[in-house]
Amino acid sequence: MAPTTSPPRIAVIGAGPSGLILHLTLVKRGVPSTLYEREPSPSARAHLGGTLDLRWESGQRALYENGLEAAFKAVSRPEGDEARICGKDARVLLEIIGDRDVRPEALSPEIDRRALRQIILDAVPADSVKWGYALSSVTPHGDGTHTLAFANGHTTVVDVLVGADGAASRIRPLVTPAQRYFSGITGAEVVIPPDVVDRADMADARALVGNGTTFAMEGGMMINAQRNSDGRVRTYAWFRGPEDWPLPSDPAEARAVLLAKFEGWAPVLRKFIEHGADDGIYHRPLYMLPPGLRWEHVDGVTIIGDAAHLMTPFAGMGANVSMLDGLEMGLAIAEAVNAGASREEREVAIKKAEEKLFEVSAKWTTITATNMESITGPDAPESVVQAFKRAREIS
Ligand SMILES: Cc1cc2nc3c(=O)[nH]c(=O)nc-3n(C[C@H](O)[C@H](O)[C@H](O)COP(=O)(O)OP(=O)(O)OC[C@H]3O[C@@H](n4cnc5c(N)ncnc54)[C@H](O)[C@@H]3O)c2cc1C
Repeated sequence: MAPTTSPPRIAVIGAGPSGLILHLTLVKRGVPSTLYEREPSPSARAHLGGTLDLRWESGQRALYENGLEAAFKAVSRPEGDEARICGKDARVLLEIIGDRDVRPEALSPEIDRRALRQIILDAVPADSVKWGYALSSVTPHGDGTHTLAFANGHTTVVDVLVGADGAASRIRPLVTPAQRYFSGITGAEVVIPPDVVDRADMADARALVGNGTTFAMEGGMMINAQRNSDGRVRTYAWFRGPEDWPLPSDPAEARAVLLAKFEGWAPVLRKFIEHGADDGIYHRPLYMLPPGLRWEHVDGVTIIGDAAHLMTPFAGMGANVSMLDGLEMGLAIAEAVNAGASREEREVAIKKAEEKLFEVSAKWTTITATNMESITGPDAPESVVQAFKRAREIS
């Protein structure tokens, strides 16, 4: 390949799972990259969401290929890979416990989002991550370079721009007119603090969640309760409804509205809503991009993660696929840059990585869409027991 004189100026927008892994993969291979994040600091967002179970061939691989196996094992919870499926009567129909000792690849340890972000930040130079940089506009120059303008007044010109900026990506319109749309499923996230989880009257709820997750579903509705690392239980209560379904802002009213929705569900399942903390209730309408979305390569810019394949959480694969995108895109760019590739050769490498992304994301967006129909369909929970088995086998 024809060597170039200086490395390309690379900007990654968004310090979520996909952007963090891409940035990590580049800097670990000696390729300079700058990661821009709109949050003011790593600890800025009090609410960073629940835990993620990282699959062997995607989320775990993205960490292990960057030397973070020990760091991941130190903060993840293999025992969190435990799941129970039931109907609204809370009778357990399927219990899944990972095959820990025999097949590590069958195990998907849980890691809190905050811990995941921290182990990656600890492995990259602190000054390569720019906090408080909200991208506000991008100007293409027609030669593959782009000028980025940030809300704090900073501007910069880059040779490679990667949008890892999530569901409402500002970079996506540069490569595709596709837009996210409401999935038809809405609801809420409800968090129960550890001291409440530990109370004697919560023994049945603790037993149902165990160290992992309970999926209760029936009649187009779902309660999904998961144990987090500090002992709290985070519940997602979902049902079919309009995009503008209103969750009252008053916590007591919000719990009452949700409980009315789940009227007739077993008392142990209702506890996951009843005992939610006042400051732990969030509206969660679910959005998605068209399953199997792809685009024609555009020089100098690409997108990864939710920006490229936003899916509902019904296969638990959004972050896993996003991390795999970050790894594959990072490996492709690093290989090209370290081989002294010309601009054209680098674009070919990025295009190839996009093709891989299309293949993997087509598979998982399709499985996710099928799971969503199954979970909220008339045959749940029985149909879901089958879908769950299938998804675990394929992953
Ligand atoms: C309720 C729920 C539960 C889920 N559970 C799971 C699960 O169990 N397993 C799983 O694998 N996936 C799960 N997912 C999906 C997972 O959360 C996403 O797929 C994953 O976070 C996508 O990572 P990302 O880095 O692409 O985007 P994000 O995590 O959304 O990160 C994007 C980052 O970009 C930043 N950003 C956005 N705009 C700008 C801007 N203009 N300038 C600078 N920075 C910007 C944001 O602040 C953010 O930090 C779940 C999703 C939801 C909604």
